[in-house]
Amino acid sequence: MNHPQAEIKNSSPIVLNNLDGRLHAGLKEGFECEVCAGLGHTIEEDERGYSTQVPCGCAGFMRRIKLLNDAGIPGKFADTQFQTYKPFDDSQSLALRMAKDFVTDFGPEVKGVLFMGQPGLGKTHLAVSIIKALIMDREIECKFVDFFQLLSDIRHGYSNDLSEQALINPYVNAPVLVIDELAKGRNTEWEQAMLDQIITSRYNAADRVTLFTTNHEDNPAEADPNTTASSEGRVNLSRSYADKASPTRLPERLGPRIYSRLTEMCRFVKLEGEDYRPNVVVHTRAKPRLKHSA
Ligand SMILES: [Zn+2]
Repeated sequence: MNHPQAEIKNSSPIVLNNLDGRLHAGLKEGFECEVCAGLGHTIEEDERGYSTQVPCGCAGFMRRIKLLNDAGIPGKFADTQFQTYKPFDDSQSLALRMAKDFVTDFGPEVKGVLFMGQPGLGKTHLAVSIIKALIMDREIECKFVDFFQLLSDIRHGYSNDLSEQALINPYVNAPVLVIDELAKGRNTEWEQAMLDQIITSRYNAADRVTLFTTNHEDNPAEADPNTTASSEGRVNLSRSYADKASPTRLPERLGPRIYSRLTEMCRFVKLEGEDYRPNVVVHTRAKPRLKHSA
């Protein structure tokens, strides 16, 4: 028996490119659905003998393409997916597994995840991989925004006479939202108030899922194995606050109210290790073979 829809699904014709800094999704050049010849529907006869249009399985490609193009993912993440994430230590392997589980377990109980750790460990890579998978596998509407961009969009909106609620609504209403580089910036009272409003609204809505990445850790001064990549989403607040000397820690940057909200909403995933990006990787992972040219 023929199962045309399954055939279509198994050979995705969607290609992703970096177009002027934005992720652009489209159909592979020359792709034409063999089932509907590109019409997007087939004609079938219903039980009364009338001809009726039935959406073709390939219409799902167009819906996914639209979701990908509307997600606001930066173009540099065109090739980003779980398969291209190369963990270099246990915390990164665990983070990868938790990110994949996040997609598998996605459902009403899932509220969010927060990836924290030094720059260059692939936090954004994992967050982007998650939303791409949610779009491709489940056709879920996702939105990606850089924290700095989010604040600047809101500021920009003021000059267009939009109400504060209207400005933050796109971020409150997105079913799945990635806030990249949380707590980066000047961290003014206004910034905190905006963030509080967005996070509280998302928290109170029954069906919003929020992913965060941040370079700010909850307790970088300590290397407590019990809080590393903890699936509990809980850290010892009193201990975190004990070290007032470091103003870069997440609880202090966000303030107790937002931070406490995050611990309720999110599974905290802490990444450790060294920057995996090429300039550092070459240095730390050089193999003797490289000596050949010398
Ligand atoms: Zn088709």
